[in-house]
Amino acid sequence: MLVKGIVFYLDSDLPTEAKVLLGDFRLAVNNAIRAGLQARVTSRNALCKVAYKDFREQHPRMYAQHLVSAFEVAGSVLKNHRRRVRKGIACRIPYVKRLMMKAENQAYKLDRKSGLIDLPIRAGCHVQLKLIVSQYHRKYLDDLTLSLGSLTVLPDRVIVAFRKDAPKPFVPESALSLDTNERSLDGVFVESDVAKAIKAEFPEVAIIQQRHHDRRKRFQKKKANDRRISTNLCRREGAREHHRIDYRLHQVADSVLKFAEERRSAVILEDLKGIRPRKSKELNRRLSMWPRRMLHHIIEYKAQWRGIPVVKVDPRNSSRTCPICGKIQYSRMGAEFKCECGWRLDRHINASINLLQTAISKGMAGGLRFDPGAFQHDVMMILYEPAMAARSEPNGTSGIAGVT
Ligand SMILES: [Zn+2]
Repeated sequence: MLVKGIVFYLDSDLPTEAKVLLGDFRLAVNNAIRAGLQARVTSRNALCKVAYKDFREQHPRMYAQHLVSAFEVAGSVLKNHRRRVRKGIACRIPYVKRLMMKAENQAYKLDRKSGLIDLPIRAGCHVQLKLIVSQYHRKYLDDLTLSLGSLTVLPDRVIVAFRKDAPKPFVPESALSLDTNERSLDGVFVESDVAKAIKAEFPEVAIIQQRHHDRRKRFQKKKANDRRISTNLCRREGAREHHRIDYRLHQVADSVLKFAEERRSAVILEDLKGIRPRKSKELNRRLSMWPRRMLHHIIEYKAQWRGIPVVKVDPRNSSRTCPICGKIQYSRMGAEFKCECGWRLDRHINASINLLQTAISKGMAGGLRFDPGAFQHDVMMILYEPAMAARSEPNGTSGIAGVT
């Protein structure tokens, strides 16, 4: 089952009853966290057992279903906490600070035509929330193959989970093999006898990252005598950085998948698991890994949602191997890969050819074949470039927020 959370803004302020409910819900979650820590349990059912009776007395008016989902939220907070403790990361006793509540799908009603939510607060008291519905939202509301999952209510917006069974990926007729780099995806597109170079560029991701990194460093220096302010500033910086990079990565992923869908291509990516930049290469390099992992995550998720096959292959030696004669080079290379046998090609694109050949040799790319000799050196297809994002970036006040 795949789940996608879609953000809706509200047509008017949250009604007072609902605000009270958010407060109560948070209280119930934090109480459950404490009870869970004491009893050393994290599952929803176990929390229910140890805590339900007391809460029922403390929150006699809360709708019982909401109380159960409060346990569920508490359970996931506790699981995260336990993971951190096990990893040896120092952390305080967790609590939920933000006003929020989560309702399971039986505990609210959404009229998909009008965008009106009916949320029960307690016996005999319901509130109505009117959602702002754009064309983008319509796509999800009108698609009846999507069922409704949980509802998350925040003071200024709600997140509706849409669910569907993962569609069966199509049988690929072509392949799009991509090598993931700091500033671009570089690769080859192979269809019957033709192979073309392909590129999706996102240089701003590294620039934004570097800029935010520098700014963080500056805060830490300037506010060295006040940890609290420095931490807060850094956190805010981090959130903004995330947001801006996330937006671009979504765009890149969308354009890659649009292409793959139209050409019925399997998408071949390197498996980034376990790839760690060498320690000596400074923090900069370490910073640059997460956007790439994030990009893969987004591509894989969206592809699954749309039924596009994605293949992950072991990237070992992919940037050093000659696809013609198979020789592995151990000396460092420049922007171009050169082999004694006469093969020369852009280093990144060469890597993507090796990824493709690994996928083919393991039978992961359907019945596709590839002959490096058929590669057209003079053709470059651009799937994405920064200019494509120039006008449409949300400024934080418009309603086209997050998709996961
Ligand atoms: Zn060679």
